[in-house]
Amino acid sequence: MVGKPIPSDSGVVVKVSPRGASRLKDGHVWVYRSDLVSADGATPGSLVAVTDHRGQFLGSALYSSSSQIAIRLISHDPVADLPMLLRQRVADAISYRDAIVHDTNAYRVIFSEADFLPGLIVDRYNDVLSMQILTQAMDTDIVRDTLIAELTERLHPVAIVERVDPRVRQLEELPPRSSGLLQGDKTSTVFSMNTVHFKFEALAGQKTGAFLDQRENYAAAAQYAHGEALDVFCYQGGFALHLAPCCSHVSGVDSSRPALEIAEQNAELNPALLKDKGKEIEWIEANAFDLLKDYSSSGQRYDTIVLDPPAFAKSKRDLDAALRGYKELNLRALKMLRPGGVIVTCSCSYHVSPPEFIAMLADAARDARRTLRLVEVRGQAKDHPILLNIPETAYLKCIIASVT
Ligand code: SAH
Repeated sequence: MVGKPIPSDSGVVVKVSPRGASRLKDGHVWVYRSDLVSADGATPGSLVAVTDHRGQFLGSALYSSSSQIAIRLISHDPVADLPMLLRQRVADAISYRDAIVHDTNAYRVIFSEADFLPGLIVDRYNDVLSMQILTQAMDTDIVRDTLIAELTERLHPVAIVERVDPRVRQLEELPPRSSGLLQGDKTSTVFSMNTVHFKFEALAGQKTGAFLDQRENYAAAAQYAHGEALDVFCYQGGFALHLAPCCSHVSGVDSSRPALEIAEQNAELNPALLKDKGKEIEWIEANAFDLLKDYSSSGQRYDTIVLDPPAFAKSKRDLDAALRGYKELNLRALKMLRPGGVIVTCSCSYHVSPPEFIAMLADAARDARRTLRLVEVRGQAKDHPILLNIPETAYLKCIIASVT
């Protein structure tokens, strides 16, 4: 099956409005349904040719019959053989990682639009690949077979696991499907980043595995961390474990017990960082907002505080509330830092722009009556590429600052 063109896909043309066309000409790859002029004959998940309203060819795209994002451009050229193009894209994504990823056997191999493979995410956790399919086009048998064949040939994973987001399948009007193995039979492994080891349970109830996008920020934070450290929203201990070797004491806070249980197991996996040095990380199950309020009013002090909350702004509408949430957390954290202390503060909300996030932090510093010195303005790890003409590919902000 792999390697053959999709005959039924040839010849279908989707016409887009001038607004849709200018979006594509500006370098974006999405056209919204409201910007389609006609899509006659386009079947769910098919490869289509895209033209402007006058019939001028703009590129080849993958069509969704249900998503608000009706087409996602996959090439500026005509595509006769989609599987061949997909294989090339997978190969390119892998060689890009070979060039830019170091000190880890866990990284994002394919980041959807940012790797010109819209609707596909593949993460590598040592010998296990975890794949997520987000669109109708990526869900067809021929596309799945092609992707699996190419990933296997290039990366030789022991297993490939698919993680299904039921909500995404519903939105794409795809039949329900459960998470599970696509190949091999290994679902748990140990991976390492920056010499720190972590457990990966591909099919555990809760999503597990690291937030791979923070990998370079863990290493950066460790450069400045010192003294007593508090990792707020610690999940499975990504920052906490990286901070432990350079701090006298580390506490990790999260509201999720299962996440903290894995964090504790991760700590066990790293005796060289901890036990051999007589250190132990304290894991605290708590609501971060309540805990920061209690700790700051009771006079607790730290030298290093990490704030890495979940996305507060899921849409533009949430922006004001999100900024208020970030400010509350940052204000309390800043009040608790000793002079010379370091804050590592993150936001993974795409809708909060870097300038808005920095302005929020400046506000919090003013209200906390602390002077903040910006040490580093950081984003997502390089294996989560940012395409300058697709702003949605840039979402993570990580500011490191020191208080005087
Ligand atoms: N810093 C982590 C990732 C954090 S993800 C890492 O690098 O791996 C966000 C985390 O916030 C999740 O683990 C979630 O359980 C936790 N969380 C969400 N709301 C919370 C709250 N109100 N209080 C404490 N933790 C919360």
